[in-house]
Amino acid sequence: MDYMIELQNVTKRYGPIVANDQINLGILRGELMTLLGPSGCGKTTALRCITGHLTPDEGRVFIDGEDVTSVPTHKRELGMVFQNFALFPHMTVYENVEFPLMIRNLPKAERREMVMDALRLIRMEEYEKHYPRQLSGGQQQRVGLARALVYRPKVLLLDEPLSNLDAKLREEMRFEIKDLQRRLGITAVYVTHDQAEALALSDRVAVMNGGRLEQVGTPDEIYDQPGSQFVADFIGLSDFIEGTVLAVEGEKAMVTVDDLQFAVPASPRMRPHDKLLFFIRPNDIDLFPLGYAGGENTFDGVVSKMTYLGDKIDYRIAVGGLELRVQTDGKVRFEEGESVRLQLPVDRCRAIVRD
Ligand code: ATP
Repeated sequence: MDYMIELQNVTKRYGPIVANDQINLGILRGELMTLLGPSGCGKTTALRCITGHLTPDEGRVFIDGEDVTSVPTHKRELGMVFQNFALFPHMTVYENVEFPLMIRNLPKAERREMVMDALRLIRMEEYEKHYPRQLSGGQQQRVGLARALVYRPKVLLLDEPLSNLDAKLREEMRFEIKDLQRRLGITAVYVTHDQAEALALSDRVAVMNGGRLEQVGTPDEIYDQPGSQFVADFIGLSDFIEGTVLAVEGEKAMVTVDDLQFAVPASPRMRPHDKLLFFIRPNDIDLFPLGYAGGENTFDGVVSKMTYLGDKIDYRIAVGGLELRVQTDGKVRFEEGESVRLQLPVDRCRAIVRD
């Protein structure tokens, strides 16, 4: 594989804590890979092994085919953006972006050209004489990006770069970063604990849990085919249902859950009497008034809670001994205490490996 960055068996310990546990991860040229996971799962540690701020206890780090495990940060040709924009307050936008080129002793004319190129990239040419305090949070972060990219690094590393911005700006900046990364074709590693951000931005996502890589895949794969309960739970809402396989009939398995019987897509490994965990996303469950004809996986239930969320309605519905969460677009509304009929489309149910 033509990896721009590769971690081979990277382990990093802090005393008894294993912050990175045998991480194997290849990042393709031109790809935006996100390291995603809850606080403390080891994302920043992995990123710092790539930047060279940390040396792994075991394993090797390669950038552009070169073993850089012992190469200092400043010789790795990286562009870095962190959450606390870290612009120099006493320098103008131009001087901030020029700074990495000054350190590299590039001639003035060349510096000017590169700085203006970088400012054009973020559409801030007119702001060259402004100071950071005269800029909005989003503009400051764009200058941070320009400064990271100005010397045309091999890779761009971003550690929670949007977490200091408000929700709306964060969403805008996601697209801006993605667009910039695509236009430049630069390989990027992006650290976040925000799953929506990861799904929106990434070519691939590496989900981490307790220092280990839990799953690596495209946003679609991670969302639709989570490899574990942890991933299914971390990426979006899910109803988890535990049952026992009654029978496997071709492509379907019948699963009993107390007095209810569900059909779920079968996998070759399933056998009768197996304990099984499957999940469905709350927005994949269809909700109807009582009396709807129904079909497979159709059950009657009672609305135990209804929460209005603006563009959707969130229901808790008691079905047998289960309480399922269901989200609808709200075109038809049901009240608390009302009896409803719900359907779980078989192809939206996923059996998953137990953690
Ligand atoms: P966050 O999203 O909160 O930044 P993270 O996923 O980036 O978390 P890391 O910062 O990589 O996680 O930390 C992984 C583990 O290593 C955590 O348990 C953390 O407490 C521990 N850790 C990180 N840095 C140090 C350190 N310098 N000394 C001791 N323990 C550390």
